[in-house]
Amino acid sequence: MIKEIVLGMLIGLSIFLVWIGYNVLPIFLLVLLGGLLYFTIFQKGLLGNFNANLYKPSGGISFEDIGGQDIAKNELKEALEFLIKSEKVKEMGIRPLKGILLTGPPGTGKTLLAKAAAAYTDSVFVATNGSEFIEMYAGVGAQRVRSIFKKARDLALAEKKNSSIIFIDEIDVLANKRGTHKSSHMEYDQTLNQLLVEMDGIRNDDKVRILVIAATNRADMLDPALLRPGRFDRQVKVDLPDKKGRLEILKLHTRNKPLDKDVDLEAIAGETFGFSGAHLESIANEAAILALRENRDKISQRHFREAVDKVMLGEKLNNKPSDEEIYRVAVHEAGHALASELIFPNSVSHVTITSRGNALGYTRHNPKDDSYLYTKEYLENQIQIFLAGSAAEQLLLGNKSTGATNDFQQAVNLSKQIIYSGLSDLGVISEEDLSKDVLHEEISRIIRVEEEKVKKLLNRNLHILKNMADQLRRNESIVAEEISQLINDSKCA
Ligand code: ATP
Repeated sequence: MIKEIVLGMLIGLSIFLVWIGYNVLPIFLLVLLGGLLYFTIFQKGLLGNFNANLYKPSGGISFEDIGGQDIAKNELKEALEFLIKSEKVKEMGIRPLKGILLTGPPGTGKTLLAKAAAAYTDSVFVATNGSEFIEMYAGVGAQRVRSIFKKARDLALAEKKNSSIIFIDEIDVLANKRGTHKSSHMEYDQTLNQLLVEMDGIRNDDKVRILVIAATNRADMLDPALLRPGRFDRQVKVDLPDKKGRLEILKLHTRNKPLDKDVDLEAIAGETFGFSGAHLESIANEAAILALRENRDKISQRHFREAVDKVMLGEKLNNKPSDEEIYRVAVHEAGHALASELIFPNSVSHVTITSRGNALGYTRHNPKDDSYLYTKEYLENQIQIFLAGSAAEQLLLGNKSTGATNDFQQAVNLSKQIIYSGLSDLGVISEEDLSKDVLHEEISRIIRVEEEKVKKLLNRNLHILKNMADQLRRNESIVAEEISQLINDSKCA
């Protein structure tokens, strides 16, 4: 109301001044400039008031909506007890828990955990990102840190809550080790100092208890001052999910989707070693999109299989290789698949010669369980499987192609793993003291031996290799059951 009266008076005054012949143009320009400055500084947040970047999560996320992170969830819940039982904490003279750091690879559910923590403790949730604090102008970041803490307190009071959680994603951007920034390091340091000051200022008897939850993929880059007791007291590791975790996440993301009877989420969980929760969510989503594209009412296992390929390797390509090239790719992939099946029965999920991303074809393996330790024999067998593609080309086509470049690189990496873990003929070695020539010699030896073995293996089963390549050329892909069939038929013949 007051705004409108003042505005009306100003307009009236301007008309009056014009009427008596006064030149109002300079005053008008001055007011315009002032308005613009006000808008840029306060409304756009150049000097710290960056309300636009704060958000409250919609649709409460709870810990039940997060799969495969039992350890992280339990550790986090344990830490949150300090916030829930604040009276008891005060009585016992325990200093308040001020910060929890979630560390782990991208897409593993760190943001989800922070949101669930807010719901679990009935707190206001204010989220931001490390990069939101960084501007070229000195003092802006520090002002923004003050602003977000104030915002968290004000929001809690407005919503009549006792606690507020501030979530800072990618905190490494703002809390890099001080003095490491090449440009504007004063600004970065001031911002971090302000965060430390705000955290140090959190008290047990504050009307609104504030807890800062930060997330990073690079805990090693954080300033040690941030990690000392009394600041980020707890570190919770949020790792890539294991097979059981992947199954839980797949179940969570398919609970609102119509699944066909043939869908075997356990098999998908088994095939997706190394995938994050975000990857798995994407698989469920892509499978539904594929079913929709085909006008199906239900999502079937085939859609899931294709979705895994898409998430792993990228969109299908439209390029059309020549017939000769298609047969070469079929022979190459049949080589990988047959070697894998003969060495580790039932290890191939499916093989295809459809181009995706950088791959002209690919063989997808189906690991029995997640493994983190390997024997020498296992690594040697894996080298054989990598070399089997080019060995098959040599056996059936009489020469090799550039299609095996990536396979060779993988074989070299595995050979290095054998050498560096002391499993090669060189015995236990010091990585730094090993000369390049000796390393090269040993890698070549390992690869020569394994190549010879896989050639012999494929040669003994040449007719299956040929049948598999022909079937691949005809049908573009083969699934596990068809591979077993091909091998069994040859035994009976
Ligand atoms: P970043 O480090 O890249 O910020 P993040 O660890 O914070 O990633 P989120 O943003 O929490 O990952 O997860 C992204 C999406 O992936 C979520 O919205 C959810 O759909 C899915 N997701 C990730 N992890 C899980 C999980 N453990 N359970 C269920 N869904 C998950």
